Amino acid sequence: MTDYAKRSFWLETCSDDLTPRAPLTQSIDVDVAILGGGYTGLWTAYYLLCSNSDLKVAVLEKEIVGFGASGRNGGWCSSKFPVTPSVLQQRYGRDQARALMLAMNDTVDEVSRFCQVEGVDAHFHKGGILTLARGDHQLPMIQSSYEAYSGLGLGEQYELLGPEQVQERIKVTKVCGGLFARENASLHPARLVRGIARAIERRDGAIYERTEITGFKEGSAASLLTAGGEVRAKRALVLAGESYLSQLPRLHRVVLPIYSLITLTEPLTEQQWAAIGWQNRESVASCNYTVDYLTRTADGRILFGSRGAPYRIGSTISDDQELHPPTHAHIEDLVVEWFPVLKGIRFTHHWGGPVGMPRDWMPMVAFDPNTRIATARGYTGQGVSTTNLTGRIMAELISGKRTALCGLPIAERQSPLWEVEPLRWLAVRYMQDAFRRIDEAGKEGKPEPVDAGLARYVGRH
Ligand SMILES: Cc1cc2nc3c(=O)[nH]c(=O)nc-3n(C[C@H](O)[C@H](O)[C@H](O)COP(=O)(O)OP(=O)(O)OC[C@H]3O[C@@H](n4cnc5c(N)ncnc54)[C@H](O)[C@@H]3O)c2cc1C
Repeated sequence: MTDYAKRSFWLETCSDDLTPRAPLTQSIDVDVAILGGGYTGLWTAYYLLCSNSDLKVAVLEKEIVGFGASGRNGGWCSSKFPVTPSVLQQRYGRDQARALMLAMNDTVDEVSRFCQVEGVDAHFHKGGILTLARGDHQLPMIQSSYEAYSGLGLGEQYELLGPEQVQERIKVTKVCGGLFARENASLHPARLVRGIARAIERRDGAIYERTEITGFKEGSAASLLTAGGEVRAKRALVLAGESYLSQLPRLHRVVLPIYSLITLTEPLTEQQWAAIGWQNRESVASCNYTVDYLTRTADGRILFGSRGAPYRIGSTISDDQELHPPTHAHIEDLVVEWFPVLKGIRFTHHWGGPVGMPRDWMPMVAFDPNTRIATARGYTGQGVSTTNLTGRIMAELISGKRTALCGLPIAERQSPLWEVEPLRWLAVRYMQDAFRRIDEAGKEGKPEPVDAGLARYVGRH
C-alpha cells in the first residue's frame, strides 16, 4: 500500500495504484493553468475541454489527484447546499434561492450522467438523504427546513416522516422524526476524482503531480510558479485549492480550514443489516450543530463522520490533525449509541481532512479577465456536487460561453475575509465549544446554554 492509500479508505480502494504522474520539470505555455487536482480543478478542466477541444489545459497538483478532501470525504453527492434555503432566500430573494436549489438538483444528475458517459464506476447510488430529529429538541429544525423548501415550491421533493416511518427505513435510537430528501446520492469519492482525471487526459489535458505551486503572477504575465518551472497562462489561472488556499500568503484569510473526521466499521454481517435495515442506502444525518454524517458503503460498512477536531491558530493544516484520537473515539461511541446492535464492532479505518470554510458560508466562483485569476472555493464540507456546479460555471466564465448558470448567486462574488489572528482563533474555538454545549444540553434534555442564541446568530448559515 502506498502512503497515499493510507490517507483514506477511498484512496485505498479506488482500484488505482496511485503511482504519481510525472511532475513539471520545465516551463510551459498553456491557455488555462489550474492549481489543484481535486474536484474543483478537475471539473473545470473537464468542462473547458468538453466545450473547447483545442484548448491547452494543465492541472498542477502538489501530491496526487484526490489527495485533498476530494479523496477523503463522506461520499454524499447531495443537492444540499452549505447555506440553508431560508438564509439563501433572505440574502438573495426567493427566485435566486429557488434557482440555486434547482441547479443543485440538476448537479446530482449531472454527476451521474458524467459517470455513465465517461465509464466511471463511482458506485453512484441515488438513495436520498434522511435527516433525523434525535430528540424532541431537534424536531423544530426538521419542520422549519421542510417549510423553507416548501416556501420555494420544492416541497414535493421532501417528505416529513414520523418516528415509525423512519424506523421502517433505518433503526436508530432516540429518533422522533425525520425529513427525507429525494434528490441526493452517495458515491465512492476517490473513484470519482480519479475518473475525472482520466477523462481529462483522454481529451489531451495535462496533469502534473507532485508539483507544488509556490506563488503566482497576475495580468499579462499570468503564471503559476513551481520549483520545476513556470506555467504561463494566456487565458486564465484557476486557483482550486479549497482549504489549502489558506496556506498561500496572499490568500491566507479567504477560507478557514476546519477538520472533519471519519471512522469506518468493518463490513456488517447480514444479521446486523437485518437488525438495522437501511436497505435504500440513504445518506443519514441528525440535526446536531457539531455535524454528523453517515453513509452505508457499497461493501456494507458504516461510515460515520463528524466535525470536532479543534481549530488550530494560524489556520494550520498538518498531517497530525487527520487523526485526533479523542474525536475518533467519540465517533466510535456514537456509532454504538446510534446502533446498539453494533456493540463490539471493529473499526477498520480512521481518517480526516480539512474542509474550506468561507466567512459567510457561501461558496463562490469568479473570473477576472484583467488579472486572469479565476477561483472557486468555500464549500464548507458540501462540495462533492457543488464543485461540479462551480466547475461548469468556471468553464463558462473563462470561455465566455455563458448560460443562466452564471446568473446564480454563487457566481462572480467574493466572501468577506476572516479576521486576523488571534481573533480568528478565539471566535472559531468559541463557536466550536458553543455548538458542542448546545448539542450536549439537547441530548441530556437540559435547557440550552444562555449563549445559544448568540452562537446560532454568529454561526447562522
Ligand atoms: C473528511 C471530509 C468529509 C467530507 N464529506 C463530504 C460529503 O460527504 N459530501 C460533500 O459534498 N462534501 C464533503 N466534504 C467536502 C468535499 O470533499 C470538498 O468540498 C471537495 O472535495 C472540495 O474539492 P476541491 O477540489 O475544491 O478541494 P480539494 O479536494 O481539497 O483539492 C485541492 C487540491 O489542491 C492541492 N493543492 C493544495 N495546495 C497546492 C499547491 N500549493 N500546489 C499544488 N496543489 C495544491 C491539494 O493537494 C488538493 O489535492 C468533505 C470533506 C472532508 C475533508
